[in-house]
Amino acid sequence: MQIGVLALQGAFIEHEQMLSKLGISSFEIRQKSDLDRNFDGLIIPGGESTVQGKLMHELEMFDRIKEMIDNGLPVFGTCAGLLLLAKEIENDDRLHLATMDITAVRNAYGRQLGSFYTEDEFKGIGKIPMTFIRAPFIKSVHGDAEILAEVDGKIVAAKQNNQLVTAFHPELNDDLSIHKYFIDMINNIS
Ligand code: GLN
Repeated sequence: MQIGVLALQGAFIEHEQMLSKLGISSFEIRQKSDLDRNFDGLIIPGGESTVQGKLMHELEMFDRIKEMIDNGLPVFGTCAGLLLLAKEIENDDRLHLATMDITAVRNAYGRQLGSFYTEDEFKGIGKIPMTFIRAPFIKSVHGDAEILAEVDGKIVAAKQNNQLVTAFHPELNDDLSIHKYFIDMINNIS
């Protein structure tokens, strides 16, 4: 198995380290030609969704990535990655890949609670560490999208067929369970 990690901006190295701890090989997607390689899943890291969205367009990768996801490529988006995949962002007119039936709220925890750590239940796994950094949350899920985790009544993880998103950063803690969940998802799809 081979995972492509979108490496235009943000916390991509941490995802590669998590995959390597699971014995999964990965490579960085930095330019259009990297999309010609064979890969079984894509990770879109946290960072700034607007910057990553802009770079995907400038590097002429946007249409191709969207098409791959629409055609079933397994994708895991964390934080900014969640915003890039959302079909609706309540407080932002800019939409990006817009492949997933979720309504997100950007920078949803405000300034006071910009960053925080908690532990909470994730469906099918149990209690896991969750690190939030200027995070969005999911206001609602639609269609086939299902809720996987909620913190204080706010949806922080969801799944829809080949797409997985978390508002938190599982790559910033030692716990490998969410990355393993994504790998299992890929195995179950293929
Ligand atoms: N606030 C960022 C955005 O709007 C997301 C933050 C993150 O990825 N840690 O894209």
